[in-house]
Amino acid sequence: PADIPHFRNVFKSLRSTARVARVVSHYAWDRLFFARGAHLVLGNALAARLLKSVIDTGVELRTSVSSVRLLRSGARVEGVTIGDASEIRARSVIIATGGFSHDPEMRARYLQRSAGRSSAVCPTNTGDGLRLGLEAGATIPGDHSNNAFWVPSSHFQRADGTPAVFPHTVTDRGKPGVIAVDGHGRRFVNEAVSYHEFVQAMFRADAVPAWLICDRECLWKYGLGAVRPFTRSVGPYVKRGYLTCAATVAELARALKVEPSALEDTVSRYNADAREGVDRDFGKGANAYHKYVGDAAHRPNPCVAPIARAPYYAVALYPGDLGTSAGLRTDANAQVLDAKGDAIAGLYACGNDMDSIMKGAYPGPGITLGPALAFGYVAAMHAARRA
Ligand SMILES: Cc1cc2nc3c(=O)[nH]c(=O)nc-3n(C[C@H](O)[C@H](O)[C@H](O)COP(=O)(O)OP(=O)(O)OC[C@H]3O[C@@H](n4cnc5c(N)ncnc54)[C@H](O)[C@@H]3O)c2cc1C
Repeated sequence: PADIPHFRNVFKSLRSTARVARVVSHYAWDRLFFARGAHLVLGNALAARLLKSVIDTGVELRTSVSSVRLLRSGARVEGVTIGDASEIRARSVIIATGGFSHDPEMRARYLQRSAGRSSAVCPTNTGDGLRLGLEAGATIPGDHSNNAFWVPSSHFQRADGTPAVFPHTVTDRGKPGVIAVDGHGRRFVNEAVSYHEFVQAMFRADAVPAWLICDRECLWKYGLGAVRPFTRSVGPYVKRGYLTCAATVAELARALKVEPSALEDTVSRYNADAREGVDRDFGKGANAYHKYVGDAAHRPNPCVAPIARAPYYAVALYPGDLGTSAGLRTDANAQVLDAKGDAIAGLYACGNDMDSIMKGAYPGPGITLGPALAFGYVAAMHAARRA
């Protein structure tokens, strides 16, 4: 994230130009050898550090295998059978297959009907671990206020034509000159709230899909979803149907099948406030979080600016998830519990396979990886003590 302001200022400051040149050349170098950037920051750094610890301690890693069955002796779990049917015997098994984001059946069972299938999670997370737990007698309470960690998402095509989901976390909604409207052309939420809150507002307002709207100046400066800032030609995005573009707000409304006068009213009401740097209807820009996801360089309010320079653009938003929160019920040692509340000997769960201790709340980023790491550690220590 520290690089983002430098990308915005790339043509304005020599320091930013140098930093961007360094980041881009580092990435280009990585791509000569790997399928992705390998710079050890953010998630790369976390995964690399964990991998190093595993290698240093002499753990044998097997990749690209699927655990299909738990080996049991009575109620005790004693290992797994993996995809090629070979058995791995162990005193304990820790289930960590990342939840059920891509299992249509569990989505239908635990998530809101309008949640659909949109997920920013890797496609391999299909609920396998949860099914293993259930087969061993575990339960999934499914009683959280939210059984997923939500993020508004848009659907686009990568350059190679494959479909992809763009998670609208912090890059666009909070920026000055971006509003979200429902199918009636009305704003229904403070666009700068957290992604989890935003999707809950979509559910409450029945705003599925919702539309993110901005003008040319805003699109150029901040991008919109998969359209990056400073994109010279947005034609391909319009052609593929990702971006809707129109010369006037009324025309944009017609293209979105929204009542034109309603959208015009919404935009002019928002603009009147934005010219004074306020948002009387929803308070966009009122707290530190909003300001953080806005544009600190934009004054007086980092989150509001008039939508006034044609053409106008819209992207459709759907409820999506960053992970599922309903999982296997466990105790404080991360041991999986059966229906009576007794620990299933030798079986642990962590990450999104463990029923989230947040119970559907999302007080801040890190409430998924934090408990995942903490309970992975707790499970391993408890299992080691039993060994
Ligand atoms: C775009 C995005 C941004 C996010 N940002 C944040 C953030 O800023 N902070 C934060 O705390 N969280 C964030 N999250 C959420 C966080 O990444 C997840 O909650 C976390 O990775 C879940 O950890 P996990 O170990 O349960 O699952 P994962 O990290 O998904 O790992 C599960 C692994 O199990 C593998 N697997 C699945 N089935 C099988 C099988 N049958 N056999 C063997 N392996 C299997 C999968 O391939 C996968 O590699 C983000 C998520 C997304 C999608």
